[in-house]
Amino acid sequence: MDYVNGSIANGFIPAINLFVTSRCNMRCRFCFGSCQMQSQLTPTKRRLVLADVIRQCHDAGIEKITFVGGEPLLFDGLDQVIQLAHSFGLTTCVVSNGALATKQWLDVISPVLDWVGFSIDSLSIQTNRLIGRVSKGQPLTQAHYMRLVDWGHQAGIRLKLNTTVCQWNHTEDMAWFYRRSAPERLKFFQALTVEGVNDAQSHSFSVSNEQFTAFVMRHTEQGLNAIAESSTDMVGSYLMVSPDGRFFDNTTCCILFSPVALAFAIIPGGIASCKIRWAHWRLP
Ligand code: SF4
Repeated sequence: MDYVNGSIANGFIPAINLFVTSRCNMRCRFCFGSCQMQSQLTPTKRRLVLADVIRQCHDAGIEKITFVGGEPLLFDGLDQVIQLAHSFGLTTCVVSNGALATKQWLDVISPVLDWVGFSIDSLSIQTNRLIGRVSKGQPLTQAHYMRLVDWGHQAGIRLKLNTTVCQWNHTEDMAWFYRRSAPERLKFFQALTVEGVNDAQSHSFSVSNEQFTAFVMRHTEQGLNAIAESSTDMVGSYLMVSPDGRFFDNTTCCILFSPVALAFAIIPGGIASCKIRWAHWRLP
C-alpha cells in the first residue's frame, strides 16, 4: 500500500491503537471509554479476532501496535497478543492506568514488550480522587507511581508517560516527577469531549485552550520535552480498532470500516488524516 510505504519513506512509522477490552477498574470523569464498542464475542473468539487483526496490521505495513482499553491488563489474553505481535516483528506497546501492573508482570513480559505507557494525571491523592483515578476505592499515590516507573526501567522496557489535563490538575506542576521518571516520551492531552458519550459532564472536567497551554508551558519551560495534543489535534488523528476488529473514530464513536485492510484503503481523509499520530513515531 503506497501510503504506508510513503509514510515510511517520509520517516513515519505506521502505528495503530488496538482496544483489547472496554472494561476498566477506574472511573475517570473525562473517560470516553464507553464509546469503545462493547465486544459481543466470547473470550475465545475474541482472541482469534485479535490475532487476525494483528496479522492484518502486519500485512498492511503497520509497524507498531499499542494495546489500549479500558484497562488492557484486565484482558486475560493480553500477554498472548503481545507475544503474537512481537513474533510478527511489530513494535509493541501497552498503555495502562498502572493500578494492576506489577514488577513481576513487567519482568516477565519485557522480552516481548518494547514500550509501556502509564497514564499519570497527578501525584496528589486528592486530585486523583476527584478525577476518578481510584482503584478498589483508593486513589493512586505518588509512591505507587514512582515504583511503577522504576519497575519499568528495571525491566528494560522503554517508558512513556501520558497526562490528561483537566479541570482538577491543570494548575499542578509535575516537572520534578517527569524528570525523575525520565520517560522517553511524555505526552500531554487536553481532556477530550466526545458528543453523546461524556459531553454531559464536559463542563466539569474540560479545560480551555489557555489552561491547557499554560500547563504545557509550565513544564516545557522547565526544560521538559513533551508532546502536547489539544482536543483539536486529537480529532480524527488516531487509527483505532475495537475489541472485535472494527475501525472506529474517536470523535463520533462510529464504526468506519471492516476488515482492517479495507479500512486502510478507504478511511476518510486517507492516511494523511493520521499524520499527527504518526508524526510522533519518527524513525531514528
Ligand atoms: S483509566 Fe482510562 S479507560 Fe479507565 S476510566 Fe480512566 S480514562 Fe477511562
